[in-house]
Amino acid sequence: MRRKISVVVPSYNEEGNIKVLATRLVEVLKKVPYDYEVIFVDDGSKDDTLGQLKLLSGIDDNLYYLELSRNFGHQNALKAGYDTANGDAIISMDGDMQHPPEMIPQFLEKWEEGYDVVYTCREYQDEATFLKTRSSDLFYGVLNSLSDTKLEKGTADFRLIDRKVANVLTSLHEDGLFIRGLIKWLGFKQYGIHYICDARFSGQSKYNLKKMIRFAVQGITAFSVRPLYLATGLGLFFSAVALLYIPYILYSYYLGHAVSGWASLLATVVFFGGMQLLVLGIIGMYLGKLFMQSKQRPNYIIRSSNLQRVTNDLTKL
Ligand code: UDP
Ligand code: MG
Repeated sequence: MRRKISVVVPSYNEEGNIKVLATRLVEVLKKVPYDYEVIFVDDGSKDDTLGQLKLLSGIDDNLYYLELSRNFGHQNALKAGYDTANGDAIISMDGDMQHPPEMIPQFLEKWEEGYDVVYTCREYQDEATFLKTRSSDLFYGVLNSLSDTKLEKGTADFRLIDRKVANVLTSLHEDGLFIRGLIKWLGFKQYGIHYICDARFSGQSKYNLKKMIRFAVQGITAFSVRPLYLATGLGLFFSAVALLYIPYILYSYYLGHAVSGWASLLATVVFFGGMQLLVLGIIGMYLGKLFMQSKQRPNYIIRSSNLQRVTNDLTKL
């Protein structure tokens, strides 16, 4: 029996990209010796993305869409795609043409060699913004120093996973998904490919600075509790400093200079106030994560689809 590959594309406000991407994908997929399906996940787009997706069956019979009930975010949309895809291998990519479909045969070659995960590390073209490349490097640096799950710089959500990896991923129900970290954490036989990231074809990046920071914090707190230990370390350090400071205070008091210490007193109070808030904030972040997780809400909700197996499920709801 011919094996099947699924391609999953989370799309949020990508009306200008859908048709071009689908055409390029079909061109590549028609040449590989497998059956295929492409599942576009419309992540609550506000433009005509869904309308474009509904027209795709005119291009090829194997193009499908899932419509989520609202915007759940890139990672959750990706999870929706992974949960729905039923291929023997699943390839995920962005819907903005930054991930060249022409690399798919390379993934499949490695898959045939026996790798369970073929992931990619992007290298930016010159035109990529300074902010994006610097912030991305900084993010992977901080993440790797804080977490035991080490990610290569520039790991993107452009990868192939084998069915057995997908099955494990589907069985996980975590809030605050950081899929590239999860995949690394899962293990299996992994192979990394470096590639030059193309420029966005149409529209603009959905990750502004605020979203990038949120994503970075999510990635770090999902994979490491080390920031919580920071509190203990800081506490110990400043207790030691205070211990050294006390003899100095006593000495000044003895010399009758006590009032002149006003400035240093204020400085210390402000500094320790800040430290306490920082540490409380870190603890609060993890507490918030526990709270969200305890509610056991789904990562996404599907509103409609043109995939038979999904609509069957929806009628059961
Ligand atoms: N995306 C999504 N939901 C969102 C934000 C983004 O499904 O809330 C999709 C988006 O359509 C794209 C992919 O996630 O296919 C990556 O987003 P983007 O290209 O904006 O990120 P960048 O490449 O700038 O990191
Ligand atoms: Mg992009």
